[in-house]
Amino acid sequence: MGRPTGSFRRLLEQIELIDNGKGCWTLPFKPERNGYFRVRINGERKLAHVAFYEYWRGPVPEGLIVHHECRTRNCINDNHLKAATYSVNNKESAPYWGKVYYEQTGGLE
Ligand SMILES: [Zn+2]
Repeated sequence: MGRPTGSFRRLLEQIELIDNGKGCWTLPFKPERNGYFRVRINGERKLAHVAFYEYWRGPVPEGLIVHHECRTRNCINDNHLKAATYSVNNKESAPYWGKVYYEQTGGLE
C-alpha cells in the first residue's frame, strides 16, 4: 500500500475500479473513520474527492460542496462527483435530495 502523497499523475496511476456495479474508482489507501480519505498533493492535504474534482473540473464554485452521486465516499470517479449547494443537498430539497444526501454522507458533507 502506497502513501496518499505525490502528484496527481502518480495517484492516477494507482486508480482501482471498485467492483460495485457502478464503476467507482478509488485509490489503494485506507479511508478515515468517516469513509473519506485524504491525499497530500503539492504539499496540500485535502479530501481526495475534492482534490480530484478540482483536478478534473477546476475549483469548486464558491458556496458549493462536492458530493458523490454514487454514494461511495472514497470514490474519485469524475462522473460521480457533483458540486451542489448544501441546501440542494439537505433541507430544502427533501424528500429526494435530502434522502440521497443523508444516505450518501450521513450528513457530513
Ligand atoms: Zn463512484
